[in-house]
Amino acid sequence: MPLFVVDVNRTQLFGAPLPHIDATTLASYTSHIYEGCEYGCNYCDGWGRHLRPFNEQIRLMPDIAQAANAELATINRRAVIGLTGESDAYQPAEQQYHRTRSVLRVLAEYGQPTVIMTKSPHVVADIELLTQIQQQSLAMVMVTVLSHMADVQSKLEDKNVSTIERLDTVTRLKKAGIPVGVVIQPLIPYLNDTDYALTHLVDMIVAAGADFVHWDYVYTLNQRHRNRLYEALARIGTYPPSYMRALYQDGMTIDRAYQNERNNVLTHICDDAKLPVYPPYALFAQRLDPRNELELVILHQARRDMLQGRDTLATIGQSLATQIATGALPMQELHNYAHYMQIRPALQHLESTSS
Ligand code: SF4
Repeated sequence: MPLFVVDVNRTQLFGAPLPHIDATTLASYTSHIYEGCEYGCNYCDGWGRHLRPFNEQIRLMPDIAQAANAELATINRRAVIGLTGESDAYQPAEQQYHRTRSVLRVLAEYGQPTVIMTKSPHVVADIELLTQIQQQSLAMVMVTVLSHMADVQSKLEDKNVSTIERLDTVTRLKKAGIPVGVVIQPLIPYLNDTDYALTHLVDMIVAAGADFVHWDYVYTLNQRHRNRLYEALARIGTYPPSYMRALYQDGMTIDRAYQNERNNVLTHICDDAKLPVYPPYALFAQRLDPRNELELVILHQARRDMLQGRDTLATIGQSLATQIATGALPMQELHNYAHYMQIRPALQHLESTSS
């Protein structure tokens, strides 16, 4: 049982805007409701970022609704708030403390676009508030899953519900009209990233009715984090830590060539299953700041180019997105962009709102 502590020193909930919009979560601001996460998944970055076990103490912000209210008064009404930070907004503490619900109520009053990333089925308890936000702008949920294999899932995330229950959450949100995606994370080499495992999981995600998918690989932040991960992996059959060592070389990120190859395979699996990689424009069209929408559409094209090894095109997209973010509108370059047809609706929407 963790210790719950009121953190009187925390005064900001959303803080300053991100230097760049987050292509994965669509967020211009990112926040965590709770500090610390009771789930304590064995691979979580939190173990590497904190010296003490980060599921041992959960810090609660006092007067969180007032803080949300005060900060939202100065935030662009069409910028996405991501409740996606380093802790799950629907971890068990939410059942008792309802901090996430308090913030959602304020977000719903403002009609502020909101994206939540969670593993927890408890998010469905707030469908009414999410619907209120979705009616005014955008309320999107991203549910994270690890593997279709129950033993892998239970050994690395022993305090979370099963993948099947999480995908049931996806179905329930979708039925309620809330845009919902699935994030496969973390991908761990040779464990949950084989062709068979990915095909199986993508089939389940499609059956659940998800609007889109994306993924990320496990990070190993430092030796302490690596040791913890290796110990957890050693409990899964005969998984040798040498698999990880060979591909991470004691660094934080996985070998680039290996990643490119797996990205290509997974992108093809999703394409074959007609499951969009990253949120399609239709999900957020005319719901956000038009400039943010254009930037996101370009960033998502660039991400896809990167996933499939079109590095030059990815760099061009990234550069265009950066220019849009800084307030420029390089029309000639946008018209010459290889994905002009895909970005044209967002560009036309931006032009119509700025004329
Ligand atoms: S639920 Fe998310 S934030 Fe919490 S421990 Fe697991 S990975 Fe980390």
